[in-house]
Amino acid sequence: MILAFDFVKKFEKFEDKVWLATPTPHPEMLEYIKDAYDKNWMTTAGENLNEVEKIAAEKAEVKYAVGLCNCTSALHLCIKLAGEKLYGKPAISHGALEGKKVFCSDMTFDATLNPVVYEGGIPVFIDTDANSWNMDADALEKAFELHPDVKLVVSAELYGFPGRMDEIKRICEKHGALLVEDAAEAMGATIDGKQCGSFGDYSAISYNGNKIITGTSGGCLLTNSLEDANQARKWSTQSRENAPWYQHEQVGYNYRMSNFIAGAVRGQYPYLEEHIAQKKAVYERYKEGLKGLPVKMNPIVDGTEPNYWLSSLIIDKNAMCKQVRDDSKALYNPEKGKSCPTEILEALATINAEGRPIWKPMHMQPMYRLHDFVTKSGNGRAMTNAYISGGVFDVGADIFDRGCCLPSDNKMTKEQQDRIIEVIRACFE
Ligand SMILES: *Cc1c(COP(=O)(O)O)cnc(C)c1O
Repeated sequence: MILAFDFVKKFEKFEDKVWLATPTPHPEMLEYIKDAYDKNWMTTAGENLNEVEKIAAEKAEVKYAVGLCNCTSALHLCIKLAGEKLYGKPAISHGALEGKKVFCSDMTFDATLNPVVYEGGIPVFIDTDANSWNMDADALEKAFELHPDVKLVVSAELYGFPGRMDEIKRICEKHGALLVEDAAEAMGATIDGKQCGSFGDYSAISYNGNKIITGTSGGCLLTNSLEDANQARKWSTQSRENAPWYQHEQVGYNYRMSNFIAGAVRGQYPYLEEHIAQKKAVYERYKEGLKGLPVKMNPIVDGTEPNYWLSSLIIDKNAMCKQVRDDSKALYNPEKGKSCPTEILEALATINAEGRPIWKPMHMQPMYRLHDFVTKSGNGRAMTNAYISGGVFDVGADIFDRGCCLPSDNKMTKEQQDRIIEVIRACFE
C-alpha cells in the first residue's frame, strides 16, 4: 500500500486508461454493416459472412473457413469433428470424447480446452517450453510414452508468439493423433512463413474485442476438408436436414456468425498487417526501454514471426522479490533492486495502465487439481494452490510466477509507453 502511494506521488495518472488491448475502429466496418442493413441481410447469412469466410481462409492459407459466433464455439466444433473422426458418432446424450484423455496446452486461456470437457474428454496438461512459452515438444513426446492411447492434442499459440507448432504437428503424426490448433491469439503470425491456423487438422481463430482484429466477437473454424467444413456449418445452424420441415438426425448448435458481425470483421481484415506492425513497434519500444533491467521480453523462436499481440516480460530469477499467491490474492515484500509481477501490476494500476498476470496454468487451477500433468521429466499432478516463489518444479508455474503482460494497446502513444517504462524501471530501484 505504501509503495502504491509513492507511485501516485511520483507519476501522474493517465487521464484515459491505457488498456491491455482495445479494438481499433475502421470506417469500413460501418460501411459493410450498413450494407447488410440496407439489403436487409440482418441474419446469420449474407455477403459479409461469405466474404469473411473467403478472406479468413485465404489469409490463413487453408481451403475452408466457417464463420461462427466466437472462437470458443469454433474450438468446440474442431474438437467435435476430431472426436467423431477418432471415436465415431456418440450416442445422443454423450460427448464425442466421453472418457477419453486429450493432451492440452497448460499455459493458456481456459477457452482452449473447455470444449474438450464439453465433449466429455479428460484434459491431460502438457508443460510449457521455457524457450518459447508454448507447448513443450519433449513433454508431449513424454506424454505419448506415458499415455499411448491418446489420439488428440489441443495446442495454443501464446500471446501471438508461436512456438514450433510444426514440431507439435510432426509428433502428432508420428503417434497417429489429430491436432487442434488454437490460433485465437496468433492470427497473422507465421512459422517458417506458414500462417498460424494452418497447422491443425482443425484450427480456430478469434475476432474477440481485444484480439489483433475484431468484429466485437466472432471466430472461424479452419480446415482443408470440405466435408468437415460442411459438417461444422450444419452443426452451427441447428443441424437441419435437407427436408421441407425441420428434420433432425443429430444434435445442433446455434453457433453461426451474424452477417452484422461479419461486416465488422470484413472491415477489419484490411488492417491486420497494420495492427501487427503497430504491435511490433510496441514490443520493440519495451525491449529497448527495459534494457539493463533484469527482465526479458516474450521469447521469439527462430523461424517464427509473431503478430506481437501482447508484449510480456519475465523477471530474472535472482531479481524476484518474495511474492506469495493463493487462490485469489497476492502479497509481496518490496526489496531493493528486485521486483515481482504483483508489484509491477500494482505500480501500473496507480498510473491507470492495465497489465495482467500470465495465464495461470491449467494444472494449477482448482478444477483440474486431480488431472495428469506431464513435464519434460515425467508425470506429475496438479500442485497445491498456495504457490510460493522458488518452490517451482515446472516451467508453467515458473513463468506464471515471474511473468506479466504489459499494456499492449496499438493506440498507446510513445509518451504513454515511455512513462509505463519509467514506472516499471522504478519498481527495480
Ligand atoms: C480469446 C481466446 C479464445 C476464445 O476466443 P473467443 O472468440 O472469445 O471465444 C480461445 N483461446 C485463446 C487462447 C484465446 O486467447
